[in-house]
Amino acid sequence: MNDPSPIDGDGSGDGSGGARRTVAVVPHTHWDREWYDPFQTYRLKLVRLVDDLLDLMESDSSYRHFLLDGQLAVVDDYLEIRPENEPRLRALASAGRLTVGPWYVLMDEFLVSGETIVRNLQKGILRGSAFGGVMEVGYLPDMFGHVAQMPQLLAEAGLEHAVVWRGVPSAVGGTAFVWTAPDGSRVRAEYLVAGYGNGAALPEDAKQLVRRLGAMEAELTSFLRPGEPMLLMNGSDHLRPQPWLGRVVGEANALQDEFDLAITSLADYLAATSTEGLVEWQGELRSGFRSNVLMGVASNRVDVKQAAARAERSLEQLAEPLSALFVPAERWPGAFLDLAWTLVVRNSAHDSICACSADDVVDAVLHRYAEARHVGEGLTEQALAAVGRSMELPGPVVVNPSARARGGLVEVTVPAVGEPGPHVQVLSERSGRPGTVTLDGETVRNMLGLLQGSRIDDQSYVTDVSLAEDDTGLDVTLVIGPEPRDGVPVEEVKRELYTRLSAAPDTEVRLIIDQPPVRRLLAHQAPVPGFGWSRFAPAPVAHPVRIEGEPGSGLVLTNGLLHVEVDPATGTFSLDGVPGYGRLVDGGDHGDTYNYSPPRHDTLVDTPTTVTVTAGDAGPVRATVDVVAAYQWPEGIDAATQARSGSRDVTVTTTLELRAEEPMVRVRTRFTNPSRDHRLRVHLPLPAPATTSRSECAFAVVERGLTAEGRDEEFGLPTFPSRRFVVAGGLTVVHEGLLEYELVDLVESASADGSGPAASTLALTLLRATGMLSRMGMSLRPLPAGPMDVLDGPQMLGPVDVRYSLCVSDVDPFDLVDDALVPLQVAGSFGGGHRPEQGSELSVEGARVSSVRRQDGALEVRVFNPTDAATTVRLAGRTGWLVDLRGRPVAPFEGAFALRPHGIATARLDG
Ligand SMILES: [Zn+2]
Repeated sequence: MNDPSPIDGDGSGDGSGGARRTVAVVPHTHWDREWYDPFQTYRLKLVRLVDDLLDLMESDSSYRHFLLDGQLAVVDDYLEIRPENEPRLRALASAGRLTVGPWYVLMDEFLVSGETIVRNLQKGILRGSAFGGVMEVGYLPDMFGHVAQMPQLLAEAGLEHAVVWRGVPSAVGGTAFVWTAPDGSRVRAEYLVAGYGNGAALPEDAKQLVRRLGAMEAELTSFLRPGEPMLLMNGSDHLRPQPWLGRVVGEANALQDEFDLAITSLADYLAATSTEGLVEWQGELRSGFRSNVLMGVASNRVDVKQAAARAERSLEQLAEPLSALFVPAERWPGAFLDLAWTLVVRNSAHDSICACSADDVVDAVLHRYAEARHVGEGLTEQALAAVGRSMELPGPVVVNPSARARGGLVEVTVPAVGEPGPHVQVLSERSGRPGTVTLDGETVRNMLGLLQGSRIDDQSYVTDVSLAEDDTGLDVTLVIGPEPRDGVPVEEVKRELYTRLSAAPDTEVRLIIDQPPVRRLLAHQAPVPGFGWSRFAPAPVAHPVRIEGEPGSGLVLTNGLLHVEVDPATGTFSLDGVPGYGRLVDGGDHGDTYNYSPPRHDTLVDTPTTVTVTAGDAGPVRATVDVVAAYQWPEGIDAATQARSGSRDVTVTTTLELRAEEPMVRVRTRFTNPSRDHRLRVHLPLPAPATTSRSECAFAVVERGLTAEGRDEEFGLPTFPSRRFVVAGGLTVVHEGLLEYELVDLVESASADGSGPAASTLALTLLRATGMLSRMGMSLRPLPAGPMDVLDGPQMLGPVDVRYSLCVSDVDPFDLVDDALVPLQVAGSFGGGHRPEQGSELSVEGARVSSVRRQDGALEVRVFNPTDAATTVRLAGRTGWLVDLRGRPVAPFEGAFALRPHGIATARLDG
C-alpha cells in the first residue's frame, strides 16, 4: 500500500533505493494543561518551554518543525503571560514550522456532549486562523478511547486524517486503518502503536540514535510493512524540545544507509500516505487490547460528571435555543455564551473531566462548570422574561425549549381566586395580608435597605412601589405579586425616601403592604408546540397518579401507565410486576481514579438493616414515596489484608416520583457518604435478558455486547459509558451524569442465533470512592497509569445526591431524556405585548436537534439522525444553507433536506 513516503524532506535522501526506511521525526510536547499539578503550576513550565522553543527555532533552521500538541489553548495560555511574543509565534506558524490546532483542548470524547466536542473543534479552528490556520489532522493522541462519530465530525470539518493511540482493537494489525463512522464517513487513522511518545528523549549521539531506530523497527516488525515509513513522535507529557535534534538527525543520516530521517510535520507525513489496502474499522474505539482505556474514569468523581451534565444542558438546551428564538437578534448574548463555552471546553480536557487529577484541579473544574451554568441559567431567565414581556395577555406562560411538541408538569403561582379546579394539585396557599404598619424613619430605612431588586422570596415579588406624602407623614405602598415585573422603581423610591428622611428624620412612615392571596399549583400543561409557548392552562389529566396501600405492607404509585410497588422489607420496588429495582450494592474498590479494582477480600453489602417507607405528594399530578434505608457499610479497605474493614452507619433516602401522563419513574437517591474505598451501584433488573446494550454517545446510539477487549495490563472490564441514557432488555435508564453502567447477572438464554449468556440486570454506578490518583499492583490494572499520589477528593466523603429515571415501556429514549431532564419552563407575564396565546418560533421535524443558536447573525440548527433509516429533515417555512462544521456552505435547501442514516447536519437559516 504505502509507497516509501517522499516526506517533506531535508534533501538528505541519497537515492540508495527502496532499502532505506524513511523515518519521520515529529517533535512535539504533550501538554496536559492541568493534571497531577494545577494549571498555574504547569503554565510556569509551559512559558519556559515556549520561550526556549522560540529561541531554538529562530536560531536553528535544522529544527524544522514543532507540533504544539494539537490544541490552541496552550497558545492562549502562553500569550496571556507573553503577549509580546505573538508575532514570533505567528511567524513560525505562517512559515509552516509550528503547527497549532485543530482542537482548542485535547478532550475526553465519552464524558462530554457531542456539542462540547464540536465547539472545541470550532474554537480551535477559529483561534487558529490568527496563526495562518490549524493542522489539518484530527490529532487525538491521549484520549481514553474514541467515539463512533469522530470520523464524521472530522470529515464535516474537512479533515481526512485522524491520529489515535488508545482504544484501537486487535482487529487492526498495522500502523494505519480506515476508520468509519456509523454514517459511512471515513478518515485515514494513523495508529500510534507505541504511543505519542515513541520517539521521546532521543539520544544526543548519532550512533546511539541509529541503534535505537533499529530496536524500534524490530519492535514494530509485525505492524510495519516493507518500505513503510516509521513515525517517531519526539516528545511526551510536558517534555521540552531537544535542541540537538537537527544536528543528530543530520549526523545519523550521514552515518548509515538503513534509515532516512527527516524532521517533519504530522500533516506532511500523512499527506504522503494512502488508504489503499488498509483494514477498515467502523464505530467506537474502546479496546484495551494494546493500551489502557482507563474505563473507570467514567465513574470517578461523580460530582464532576453531574456538574458537566448540568452546565452543558443549561447552555445547549436552554440558554442557546431560548436566546436564539425569543431574544431579538441584535441582543444575542454571544460574548456571554463564548465565555461559558470556553469554560466548558477547557473542562472537557481529558484529565479535567476525567478528574484523574489533583484535588486542586478538580476544585477548579467544578468552579468552571458552576460559572458556565450560572451564565446559562441567567441567560435562560432573561430569555424567559422576554417571552413574558411579549405576551398579549397576563398570566403564566409555558415555554417548551425542545423540538417536539409536548405537555408536562409545571409548577406555577397564581392568584387564589375561587376553587383550584379538579386537575391541579395545590402545593401551598397563602392568604392575603394587606395591612398598614406605622414605623419610624430609621426602621423603614433599615428594612428597605434589605430589599435588593424586587424579589421577596421564590414565590413573591414587589410588582409596584409608590411613595406619597401628606401633613401627617409618608405612605410607602408595596404591591406584592407572584411574578417578577420589569421596571418596578424600587431603587428610585428608596432613594427618594432616604432624601426625605434625611431632611426630616422624625417623619412618621406608614408602610402599606398590598398582597393578594396566592396559590402554588402543580398542573399538567397541555402540549406546547416545539420551540414554542402556550399560556398556562391546566389540562384534564387522563392518567392521574395516586398512591395506594399502607406504608407497612408496601405503597403503590400508579397512573395507569406504570405501576410502582415498594417492598417495605428490602426497600426495592417493582415496575409493572418485575421486582428488585433499586437494590443498592456496595462493594470495595481498591482501584484509583482511572480504574475500578476489587480488593483481594471483598464484602458486598446489599441488605438494609431497617427500611421506612412514607408517602409524600399524593397526586393527581405528582405522587412521591420516600424509602429510607439504613445500612452498615465497611469504613474502608485495610492496606495490609486488602479486606474491607470497620463499619459505618449510613442512611440512604430514595425518593420515587411518578407523574400524571408519564410512563417513567423518577428516582433520586441521597446520602452522606461515610466510607472510603468503595463502589456503590444500583441494580436494575432487565424485563428480558439482554446480550447487548444501546447507549447514547456523541451524536449516536452505540450498541455494545457483554464483554470488552483487554490484556494482562488492563482487564477488559465491560463497564461502559453512556451519556444520558442506556437501553437494555426492555429497560431504559435516563440519568444525570451517572455515566457508567455494566450488564451483569449472566443467565443462560436461548436466542434466535442459539443459546448463550445473557445479562439479567443493569448495574448503574452511583459512586466510586478511591484515594489514589493512580496505584500499582491493582488486581485489574497492575501498573500505574499516572503518579501515585494520595488524594482526598475522590473518596467523595460527604453528601451525594443522584438522579435517574426508569421506563419499561417502548418509548424513544431521546423523548424520555427531554421529559426527564429538560422540563417545560414557566415565565410570568403582565400582558400588553404582541405574542398570542400559543405559537412556535421554529419547527424541526425528522431528526434530533443538537443545537439551536445564532452564528454570524443567522439562526443555526444542528441535527442528527440516530436511526438506521434515511430521513427528511423538515424546517417548515425556512430556507437557508447546509454548512459544514467550519461554517462553509455545502448546499442550499428550501423547507426540507435529506439526511442519511446516522448523519449530522448543520443548517444556517435565512433571516
Ligand atoms: Zn494527556
